Amino acid sequence: MLFSFEAPDGWELDARCRGRDATLFFGPNRFEPKRERLAREAEAKEICRSCPALEPCREYALGQEELYGVWGGLGEADRRTVLLQRQGLHKRAG
Ligand code: SF4
Repeated sequence: MLFSFEAPDGWELDARCRGRDATLFFGPNRFEPKRERLAREAEAKEICRSCPALEPCREYALGQEELYGVWGGLGEADRRTVLLQRQGLHKRAG
């Protein structure tokens, strides 16, 4: 498992990222050129695509407003977009 927590419903036990190098999901500990980052994130997202924990993982990351890494098939910019969309929907509904 990449993440050092236990989810209340245990979804992390089904994670496809279990045992994988966290660098694939969170990036290297050095400057990462954009092309390299996009390729790395695409590879991580491909793993997420077949993960049975995709939905709870994604909602966890969105709920925590996780700043870094690929979670539930979403990268950092993807999550910001989803959160902004949800805020917009919330305002329109309210
Ligand atoms: S959706 Fe991706 S980041 Fe989340 S648990 Fe599955 S493989 Fe890991």
